Amino acid sequence: MKEEPPCLQAGECQYERVRQQMQAISTALGGKLKDDPLWVLNRLVTVHPLGGCPMGRTIAEGVVNSYGEVFNYPGLYIADGSVMPGPVGANPSLTIAALSDRTADSIIAGYQQHTYQITSFCPTSS
Ligand SMILES: Cc1cc2nc3c(=O)[nH]c(=O)nc-3n(C[C@H](O)[C@H](O)[C@H](O)COP(=O)(O)OP(=O)(O)OC[C@H]3O[C@@H](n4cnc5c(N)ncnc54)[C@H](O)[C@@H]3O)c2cc1C
Repeated sequence: MKEEPPCLQAGECQYERVRQQMQAISTALGGKLKDDPLWVLNRLVTVHPLGGCPMGRTIAEGVVNSYGEVFNYPGLYIADGSVMPGPVGANPSLTIAALSDRTADSIIAGYQQHTYQITSFCPTSS
């Protein structure tokens, strides 16, 4: 069995496999495959915007860590689709919800361990 190439960007790999299959079908039918004109951007385009503040192992790789906490801003969390590092292939809303739930658990655990000081953002009445 042919070994698949390592693929760090799974979504891109899937697109390329689909494109190759469409090329084979077009050739078999005597047609000509027209690529998506947006391929010139060399980026995956999705109707599910993700990755605006991606997670990473270090600040060089991303905006937040794997628990949604912004690097160098302890206690500041992002918990939405923007923390996903890129397209996941399938529709993402349940994955986003699960990831946000995990981040919420991490925030609660952090407070329970007194990792952070709770700060009131409400103006004090004078
Ligand atoms: C037409 C359509 C169909 C889709 N169908 C599916 C599907 O079938 N299955 C699936 O899994 N996914 C689907 N998606 C994708 C899914 O809806 C999104 O990926 C998901 O909702 C993203 O979640 P989010 O929390 O990152 O952002 P959002 O759900 O967009 O939440 C962002 C929130 O932030 C609020 N906001 C924005 N700016 C500010 C601001 N300045 N201040 C305060 N609040 C602000 C917005 O009002 C909004 O409530 C679909 C998307 C679209 C557009």
